[in-house]
Amino acid sequence: MIRSAVLGVLVGLVLVASCGSKKEAGTGSGSGGPTPTTAKLKVAVSIFPLYDVTRRIAGDRAEVHLILPPGKSEHGYDPTPQEIAKLDGAKLGVAVGLDMDGWAENVMKSAGDPKVLRIGEKVKTVPIDTKPIEQEESGAHHEGHDHAHEHEHEGEVGAPDPHVWLDPDRMILITQAIAAELTAMDPESKDIYAKNAATLTASLKDLDVKIMTRSKAWTKHTVVTFHGALAYYARRYGVRIGAVVEPIAGKEPTAAYIAEVIEAIKKNKASALFSEPQLDRAPGEVIAREAKIPLGELDPIGGVTGRESYEALLTWNTDQLEAVLK
Ligand SMILES: [Zn+2]
Repeated sequence: MIRSAVLGVLVGLVLVASCGSKKEAGTGSGSGGPTPTTAKLKVAVSIFPLYDVTRRIAGDRAEVHLILPPGKSEHGYDPTPQEIAKLDGAKLGVAVGLDMDGWAENVMKSAGDPKVLRIGEKVKTVPIDTKPIEQEESGAHHEGHDHAHEHEHEGEVGAPDPHVWLDPDRMILITQAIAAELTAMDPESKDIYAKNAATLTASLKDLDVKIMTRSKAWTKHTVVTFHGALAYYARRYGVRIGAVVEPIAGKEPTAAYIAEVIEAIKKNKASALFSEPQLDRAPGEVIAREAKIPLGELDPIGGVTGRESYEALLTWNTDQLEAVLK
């Protein structure tokens, strides 16, 4: 009697269970598309350095799309309708934030309004330096000794500098933030994201040690950059930015300001002026000729031949700096 009652309950449970799974399968095929568990998470990323790390953390678990084509400036881009269509259905967006890539967030909105991770909110920032002549102590200072200095700047007038990705140490925190966001959206792939993030972090630490070792051997320290992309890198590796031609990107400097920059180059004995592949080289040529210093190139974005990974991009920039500072 009791035994048959237990059996009856068991049979009942099995029936309920099989009904449940049948119902699920029915819903999946009824929708016509893949079931939610097999559909890949679609991610839209604003700029190449963040795209490179995001695709490496995601591995084959997510479909990662880059919005800004290589060769374009990170401070404004109008994607074509075809480019926007490719982002359709994105569930996660990765952007810098800090007023830099609002253009990318607008595109994300029209492509399905995904949740947006702004990596600029995940790391410590410093304000944009708008003075042509930096009134700081002369010579090199590495970031290790500079944390107190960064705190002094907090709360000062001056918008936070968005170029946080050009410091590998901050990129480690950014890697963690991206992995956490991918995991939150796709918990089933948690272990894969964690493993890929660990591999990437090891590579970033290795990159940091290599650049630190190289930069410590440089005998000269001062350069002038075209737009203010290098502040975080400079702080970490003891490079002194003698002046910035265009401190607010996209805002053309006045003739009086350019004259101050040339003065600053001479006064600070800057070793070189660096233009950028995404910008017009002509103004840099004029200033470099006037100030009688070599004109080089630094790349804040990459994604082109020889700069096809974040590490390759940072190494390339380090090569350019070393050529004039060693
Ligand atoms: Zn920039």
